[in-house]
Amino acid sequence: MSNLDQKMIVKVDTTKASCPIGEIIGKKNISESKIPVLSCEGACIRGEIARLAARNVSKEQGYGRGCHGELIAVPESAIAQWIKSAEKVVLIDGCFLRCHGRIIENILDNKKLIQFDALSHYKKYNDIFDYDDVPEEERKEVAQSVADWVMDSLNNPSAGSASPCATSDDKSSGCCG
Ligand code: SF4
Repeated sequence: MSNLDQKMIVKVDTTKASCPIGEIIGKKNISESKIPVLSCEGACIRGEIARLAARNVSKEQGYGRGCHGELIAVPESAIAQWIKSAEKVVLIDGCFLRCHGRIIENILDNKKLIQFDALSHYKKYNDIFDYDDVPEEERKEVAQSVADWVMDSLNNPSAGSASPCATSDDKSSGCCG
């Protein structure tokens, strides 16, 4: 890894392998013009809430769960082709650090990337790292609240919850970083 114009360059080894079910789902989602939903997949409670919320949004009509791993590391896969060719892509990061937003902005056309900072919506668990320190039912409720907020913003863009995190340096809400 090296610094270049204040960006990090990460080398990824290529692979000839492919995921059989990923190929089927990727092609199906392309044919159905589904909107991919990605999350940061962070290991802490913030990443877990983002992951669960992305799962819930992806169950809505017209949406599907995207895999950032294949997007980044298997770029010729059907899942990656689906995400790259989709009309828009939804990304839910766990917090203001925007770990995936800052990567994926460099892979996809920013105009079609709709970003959310989940923590900015629910604003708690600042002193918790492990997700199982929050009861499962509570995790599910908070994640559904984030998913509802995301869907409200997607369905009513003028309400304006999407993408403010792209320029946010607000660290007042706390994070796992
Ligand atoms: S630091 Fe925040 S944005 Fe980054 S992986 Fe963790 S929860 Fe996600």
